[in-house]
Amino acid sequence: MNRLAVLGQPIAHSLSPRMQTAAFAALGIDGEWSYEAIELSPERFADGVADLRERGFVGANVTVPHKAAALAIAEQPSEAARAIGAANTLTFTAAGIRADNTDAPGLIAALPASPRGKRAVVLGAGGAARAAVWALLEAGADVEVRNRSAERGAELVADLGGRLAAPGQPLDLSSCEILVNATAVGLAKPGAEPGAAGSDLKKLGIEADGLDEHLILVDLVYGAEPTELTAAGRRGGAKVVDGREILVRQGALSFRIWTGLEPPLQAMRDAIEEQRR
Ligand code: NAP
Repeated sequence: MNRLAVLGQPIAHSLSPRMQTAAFAALGIDGEWSYEAIELSPERFADGVADLRERGFVGANVTVPHKAAALAIAEQPSEAARAIGAANTLTFTAAGIRADNTDAPGLIAALPASPRGKRAVVLGAGGAARAAVWALLEAGADVEVRNRSAERGAELVADLGGRLAAPGQPLDLSSCEILVNATAVGLAKPGAEPGAAGSDLKKLGIEADGLDEHLILVDLVYGAEPTELTAAGRRGGAKVVDGREILVRQGALSFRIWTGLEPPLQAMRDAIEEQRR
């Protein structure tokens, strides 16, 4: 059996085991591959990974809060993982640990059109924003970064490139072709109706009128779909890519790295959709 896991803390909510198990089943390889969720504290992360290797696991996805630590323990980090400073996919081989970042190419794969030459705005400056900015720049987009804390935004731009929006400058969506929400704004609030009118757009400095058909709108937030942002984007006619699709795309690329097989995207999407019913 080729054993895989997703490592995080907390991890019980993760949709990855359901999604990857459905992918194995769709290709008829569920007798050879398995995928489970394993909770590890930051203090236990390195020992926990060593333990998995001893037990014969072949790889793992890594999520919050271990993505930087996953890069640090790898003998063979990919160029993307090194540049972004985080890895979400580990592969255990006889030669050591290989670390990849599939969040970045997953975002590009999810877009309905090539970002080459397009003007993109990324909201946020955390780990998810770093992967998005790196991916969009690599793919040839012109990238502006906007973050609540200007200092963190400046750090991101100094590390990866792109431009930092001038402080206080309003977001002009008419000249933006791809808008990525890589902030935590939109995460489920206890007791709130999904997508209920609220203040998320205001927090992000977005005017709903600009969310029209000229725009590709990506919201990385998942677990609360439709978010206020994706609901407003769909109403306005924007081409919306939601957090579930981003999750599927990064998982699909991890699947390909481990199995060498073409990932069954629709089976992975269906597995996540079923969970929500
Ligand atoms: P993070 O490192 O904690 O960064 C959070 C970002 O959100 C920071 O830029 C922060 O700004 C900003 N922010 C938080 N509250 C805000 C508010 N009220 N107004 C404006 N900005 C606010 O988190 P992360 O790991 O990058 O994750 C960000 C989001 O991406 C999360 O929602 C996560 O679920 C999602 N994500 C999705 C996927 C997927 O597969 N779909 C994968 C990875 C992450 P400051 O710097 O000013 O604090």
